[in-house]
Order: sequence, then C-alpha cells, then structure tokens
Amino acid sequence: MENKNENTLEENKASLNFIEQIIENDLKNGKNNSRVHTRFPPEPNGYLHIGHAKSICLNFGMAEKYNGLCNLRFDDTNPTKEDVEYVDSIIEDVKWLGFDWGDRLYYASDYFDRMYDLAVEMIKKGKAFVCDLSAEEVSAMRGTPSIPSQASPYRTRSVEENLDLFARMKAGEFPDGSKTLRAKVSLDSPNMQMRDPAMYRIRHAHHHRTGSKWCIYPMYDWAHGLEDSIEGITHSLCTLEFENHRPLYDWYLNEAGVYRPQQIEFARLNLSYTVMSKRKLLELVQEKFVSGWDDPRMPTISGMRRRGYTPESLRAFSDRIGIAKRNNVIDVAMLEHSVREDLNKRAKRVMAVIDPLKVTIKNYPEGHVEELEAVNNPEDESAGTRMIPFSKQIYIEREDFMEDAPKKFFRLAPGREVRLRYAYFITCEEVIKDENGHIVELICTYDPLSKGGKSPDGRKVKGTLHWVDATNNIKAQVRVYDRLFTVADPDGDKEKSYKELLNPDSLSIIDQAFVEPSVANAEVLSYYQFERLGYFNIDKDSSKEKMIFNKTVGLKDSWAKENVG
Ligand code: ATP
Ligand code: MG
Repeated sequence: MENKNENTLEENKASLNFIEQIIENDLKNGKNNSRVHTRFPPEPNGYLHIGHAKSICLNFGMAEKYNGLCNLRFDDTNPTKEDVEYVDSIIEDVKWLGFDWGDRLYYASDYFDRMYDLAVEMIKKGKAFVCDLSAEEVSAMRGTPSIPSQASPYRTRSVEENLDLFARMKAGEFPDGSKTLRAKVSLDSPNMQMRDPAMYRIRHAHHHRTGSKWCIYPMYDWAHGLEDSIEGITHSLCTLEFENHRPLYDWYLNEAGVYRPQQIEFARLNLSYTVMSKRKLLELVQEKFVSGWDDPRMPTISGMRRRGYTPESLRAFSDRIGIAKRNNVIDVAMLEHSVREDLNKRAKRVMAVIDPLKVTIKNYPEGHVEELEAVNNPEDESAGTRMIPFSKQIYIEREDFMEDAPKKFFRLAPGREVRLRYAYFITCEEVIKDENGHIVELICTYDPLSKGGKSPDGRKVKGTLHWVDATNNIKAQVRVYDRLFTVADPDGDKEKSYKELLNPDSLSIIDQAFVEPSVANAEVLSYYQFERLGYFNIDKDSSKEKMIFNKTVGLKDSWAKENVG
C-alpha cells in the first residue's frame, strides 16, 4: 500500500515541468506564505503572437493550477514605440484566450514615482551615479567578459552632486542622450550586464499614459524587478534571454532593500515557417506585405482568431509543447493539429463547392425543390440536423469529375454512379463542353429510390461527393492561405532577408464559391467544416451582401500521421 502511494508521488513529480517543480517545492516550504502570484508583462509595442500565447498560458496557468493570482501588466517604459492601439489589442487577446486578471490590470508607468524615489535612495547609498558619457563612449570603455571596463570618470561624483544632477535630469534641463543614471555595480564582472548598467535615460517624448510628465525613463532591468516587487509577484517567469540578467535583477532588488521575487527562465517558443520578432512583424504590416496585424497569415493571436483558430486550440497547443529549458523550434503542423482536433468537435459541417462544375439531373422534375436532412456534426449528436435544398441543377467540385478516369478514381466519370451526400445516387450520362473543349456541364440521371443517399437495392457506390444546389445557395468569397514563408526558418538564411523569403502564393482568393444556405445568418468568426474541403470560418469583413470565408486549416493531418500511433 505504502509503496503504491510512493510510486504515484514519484510519477506525479516526473510529469511536472521544472517550473511546477519549483513552485511545488516553494509551497511545501511555505515560501512567500505559500502564495503563487505571477504576471504577464507585455510591452505595448506590437500585437501579441503565438509565443506570447505560450507565456500567457504559462503565467495564468500556474496561477490557476496553484490557486494563485496572475496580473496583466503593461511594461510601458519606452514611450517612443508604444501605443494605446497595442494596449487595447493585448487586452482583447488575453481575454479571448480565456484568462481573467480580475481587477489587477497594471501599468509600469503607474510606478514611475516610486521607481524614481528608489533611484534617489540608490544614489544616497552610493550605489548609483549620474554619468555624462555618450552611449558610444560607454560602449568603447566597456571591455569584454575577460577585460574589465574602464571606470567612468563620473563614477566618483559626490552623492550631493548626483542628487542635484538627477533631479535636474528629471526637471528636463538636459537634452536626450546627454546623461544617464548608472548603477555602480561592477567594472570587472564576467557578466556584462553587471558592468555599471544604465538605470535611467533622458527621452523628451510623449508617453501614452503619463503624457509629458516625465522626460527620464527607467531602463528595463531597473524597472522590471521593481514592477514585480511592487506587485508582490512570487515567481517572475521570463524567457531564456534574461538568464544573464538575473544577477542584476537580484542585485537591484537587494540593494534597493525591497521584496525580491524569484526570476525563472524558460525557452521561448519558435515556430517553423514564420517569424516571431515584433520588429519584423511590424515591418510586414507597415510595408504592406500583409493586410494588417490580424492578417490570417500572421502568427499573431488576432490573425489566428480571424483565421478561425479557437482559444481552446491555442491553449491545447501550449499544453502539448510543454515548458522547456532549451530553445527549440516547433513544427507549425503541430499547431495545425491542435486546431483541427478542436474544430473537429466544434465545427458545424456544411457543404460548399469552391471550384464549381454544374450538374443537371435530367430526370428530376423541373422547378421542384426538396429539403434533405443533413447531420450537423457526427462528433456531437447534440448539434442536431438541418435541411438543405436540392433541385434539378447542382454544383459539384470540378476535381470530383474526370472524363478519362482510371479504374481507381472513385468519383464521377462518364457512365459511373456516385452518391451525393444526403441526397441521391447519380450517374453521369453526358459531358458538355464549350468551343474550347472546356467542360462546362454534366448531364446526369438520378435514382429517385436512393433518397438520403441510401442504396435502394444493396448496390454499392464507391464515391460520395459534396454538392450545393445551383439555385438555392449563397455565393461567397473564399480565401485560402498557405505558409507566409517558403522556408521553415526565414530568420536563418545567411544570404536572404526574411522579406525575400515570403511566399508569393500565401493568399489565393476564390470569388466563385457556393455554400449551402444554412450559413446565411451565421455570425462573424463562426467555425465550419466544409465537407471534404477543410475547416473554414466567416471573416470579420463578411456581410450579408458579400459573405467571405477564410480557410482555417485543411482536413489532412501531416503531424498526427507522423507522430501518433
Ligand atoms: P520585445 O521585448 O523585443 O519587444 P517580446 O516578444 O519579448 O519583444 P514582450 O512584450 O516583452 O515582447 O513579451 C511579453 C512576455 O512574453 C515576456 O515575458 C516574454 O518573455 C514573453 N514572450 C515573448 N515572446 C515569447 C515567445 N516566443 N515564447 C514565449 N514567451 C515569449
Ligand atoms: Mg521583451
């Protein structure tokens, strides 16, 4: 009995990721009064992408799992690149992913006074000084990990002089770049982050929240730890590139004499066939390579939402990839697999034809329309059924017909019989071509006894085709997407910039698609499976007059095939 328990404990421990292990250990030891408090701290200088989604799922997920709290905090310390448009989009995206920060929406800029006061304390303790060196001079004197920095000639300024100069920096007496406040940490630490880093710089710039109140702005390392400290964060989760900043994070908080959270680094998510740097994504938007931040080809959360990805699928993907300590690249097919898996349960099936070929059923009564019952979702009985109209003329997919069909072609061909899903068996009798020899119509007959697509006498047909009535339908535009880049690693090419590796065929627009009428009143973003074609959703620009569908993802799953069972 005892043994068995121990085993389960061991197994549990093994299935925890390294962050969960740290948290559970802290909880066991009563650290932070056994509180768990995380935060998601985006800088509002762009839209969120799938990498941020991973960080959101991790931070909010840890809080949820351990009965803790997670704050949404805007790390808005860099006025020139930030904007309220980004703030609004970030709020919308985190909410859409399904996370709730309660009343804990914070802005780093709300702490500017407190940060300033603590910087003054640092000066008083002799831990910070005002430096007049230019950025170029600082970098020229910086040394290397094995060669110490040359000391700034201003390093020995008196506390009084530093206090006076820092106050005057704040008062706006000095131009941009003419002075910085620097921490007096080290001249010879092998960790270059510790070589007297800048704490404040002068930036006479309008801030989207504080307006023109400030002309000095705190640097990331000084600001971020204080933000975490002020909010009582227990576990400050960040990506690996901050690993060598951790000693500075700790130093600042220890020297400032304030509460110190624990910084823990994890690997950032990289995805194949896309770029994830906000700078590059901004360039794609500004230079109009895409229609906007929410272009369905973008790796942004808003782009994925517009394309028809569900929040549940992004969360499932985030779980599936797990938390790693080493950077790696995840195959985008794995993301698509998560999307497909979720949509399979959720999406309503409808019939649509995106490359139409007209079929006339010559023995079907002229002018008659009947309603045939169709299943909404075979994966979910509660989704019920609907009626679809059928009459003498319908459309089928052009590729479902072949004039000189090989034996193994189980779709329509001259003289062959197929099933129209939910409708009837039809047989192709005649092929009509235009003067160029292009097939424009098929003349078929139907078996009235095969209603519902059921065989009347046990005879079998191999193929089942989707179709849409030629009179009673909705004409729609369909946008089909391919990878945004032609290569798996657009950042990794030594000769070509990522912009030269954009896929020229990443968007195809089909204006002549037909969809069954049941979609007429559906809301924007509704999820569908077009039978046999893939998953689609309604684009945000769609209207009753002109319906627009995005292809979310195809039905074929390359990832599952290679990786499961
Ligand atoms: P930058 O700082 O260059 O503007 P960023 O992508 O780091 O870009 P932030 O707004 O600072 O953007 O990110 C907010 C949070 O999301 C940070 O905690 C960051 O570590 C995390 N994050 C960003 N990119 C990824 C990624 N690809 N995978 C996982 N987490 C990420
Ligand atoms: Mg960042």
